[in-house]
Amino acid sequence: MADQLPPSHSSKSAAREAAKERISEARKRAKAPDYWAKDILQGNRNALSQAITLTESAKPADQLLLDLLLQSIQSKKGKTTSIRVGITGVPGVGKSTFIEQYGLLLTSQGHRVAVLAVDPSSGISKGSILGDKTRMELLAKHKNAFIRPSPTAEALGGVTRGTHEATLLCEAAGFDRILIETVGVGQSEIAVRQCSDAFVLLMLPGGGDELQGIKRGIMEMADVLLINKADGNGLPLARETAAQYLQALHLLPPNAAGHSVDVQLISALEKEGIHEFEEHLKRLVVSWKANGSFHRRRGEQAAELFAQHVQQLSIQSRLRDADGQRVWNETLTAVRVGQINPYTAARHWMELGTS
Ligand code: GDP
Repeated sequence: MADQLPPSHSSKSAAREAAKERISEARKRAKAPDYWAKDILQGNRNALSQAITLTESAKPADQLLLDLLLQSIQSKKGKTTSIRVGITGVPGVGKSTFIEQYGLLLTSQGHRVAVLAVDPSSGISKGSILGDKTRMELLAKHKNAFIRPSPTAEALGGVTRGTHEATLLCEAAGFDRILIETVGVGQSEIAVRQCSDAFVLLMLPGGGDELQGIKRGIMEMADVLLINKADGNGLPLARETAAQYLQALHLLPPNAAGHSVDVQLISALEKEGIHEFEEHLKRLVVSWKANGSFHRRRGEQAAELFAQHVQQLSIQSRLRDADGQRVWNETLTAVRVGQINPYTAARHWMELGTS
């Protein structure tokens, strides 16, 4: 047909076809993990954001893509000298105020800062406590900062966020300080501690008597304790609280990295004590690298994550087949009404999969 058309028309449609093909090729390339990885390694923020979305997905295709992307990045990236800092504290303690000021200090020192938020995504929070876009406005605008709000429970669809994977992606994109924030309700803290080189607990002045409760467990995981809001009328109480915590910390067994936990006073609002905290953290990291605990801790974390991923992926793969899903639902009902105990039910479900 084409040869019967006037030559100009024929060449135009051929050119259009060729252009279409080029566009579709580019699209395919854009989706290919190697090209995607290259964009991330060049610091492309859109590519990074889209890749982090994969870490929150339960879709098998997304998980495969993430796997290929991480492999591609690993084969190409150089050595990173990143420091991953986990930050926790109850709502209202001043985490976002602190992270903004700390982040700005780090960027002023030439660091590139990524902030990841881990929302417990539980019934308690009903979604994203940490996703408020108006938070950290100044830091969010900074060219050397990247803030990723936490996904909502619905967005996660039953998977826990792949915080470690998101951290690897940020590091590949050239961010050398990763601040991982979580709200102080227990479970998410353990997840954040597992992804961080240093774990920082923000506390309010007062409340020293509650040490026997949940805080004590979290205190044992902390590397540094910061008493925030040590300003104005709150200063004397903050000093008193710091002294109480220091005393309580003496009673705890020594930290796994072999250092004693420091208690510092800060005011995120007045930008006091933040520089001192950073200096302290840098000294800690130097000593951890010298005594081997920095790399040991990362190694142990990777081993734990491997085991967790195996658990999560094997459950997911069994649930994908219709039979697995049906038996799961039936077993769940039986467990709920007390017809079968959870341990026996779990063994029963696993055995069905292997028979
Ligand atoms: P988050 O819920 O832990 O993220 O806490 P925010 O950073 O949102 O802070 C909660 C409230 O405490 C806000 O009204 C802040 O202005 C205030 N705040 C934060 N840091 C300080 C501080 O160092 N001193 C005082 N006085 N108030 C602070």
